[in-house]
Order: sequence, then structure tokens, then C-alpha cells
Amino acid sequence: MALMITDECINCDVCEPECPNDAIYMGEEIYEIDPHKCTECVGHFDEPQCVQICPVACIPVNPAHQESRETLWQKFERLNAQKAAREQAAREQAAQAEGAAAPTPPSAS
Ligand code: SF4
Ligand code: SF4
Repeated sequence: MALMITDECINCDVCEPECPNDAIYMGEEIYEIDPHKCTECVGHFDEPQCVQICPVACIPVNPAHQESRETLWQKFERLNAQKAAREQAAREQAAQAEGAAAPTPPSAS
């Protein structure tokens, strides 16, 4: 199940940096959770980190996103694969930029 943040949120900012999936973001008025990124911390921690740290206990299960542990695990694996692909692309881009900036060696003749 993905979690959600209710309007009891006091925008204290402490949960956002704790999320291992970058699923928490500032919405129009309060923080929100992207259900496509929230794995309930499955794959990273035993307990949802945002729930552990929230001072006003305003992070329940999102009833619109009921998922089994297996589905959450698959989501974790998909997110991980996407992150690895992004990091690989960034590395390749950096290597290309470095190659373009490197001076041309003088010719032997
Ligand atoms: Fe992020 Fe875990 Fe909270 Fe979901 S339960 S929003 S993955 S910290
Ligand atoms: Fe809102 Fe709780 Fe997150 Fe603080 S920890 S920003 S109160 S959801």
C-alpha cells in the first residue's frame, strides 16, 4: 500500500528528506506522497520512515492504493532499475562531455 498525507500536516519538513524513494514532495498547501513511488519503504527499511518521524501522525494508508507486499517489492525493483538507468545515462553524458573538452593530442609528424 502506498501511504498518504492528510490535511493535519503542519509542513514541518522532516519527512521529505527521510524518504528513500523521493516520493514525498511539497504540494500546493501541504506535503504529498506520490503513490507511484511510495513502497511503504519495502526494500529499504522494516518500517515506513515517514510514519516513524512524523510528529502529528498524519500519514495513513492511501485507500486508493492498496497493494500487496509482493506488488510493493516489484515497485521497489522497478524504481531501482529506473534509478540505475538514470545514473548510467548521467555517467555516459559526463564521460562524453569530458571527452569533448579534452585537448587533441599533437600529431606525431
Ligand atoms: Fe517514502 Fe517510505 Fe514514506 Fe513511502 S512510506 S512515502 S517510501 S518514507
Ligand atoms: Fe507533514 Fe508529518 Fe511530513 Fe511534517 S512529518 S511535513 S507533519 S507529513
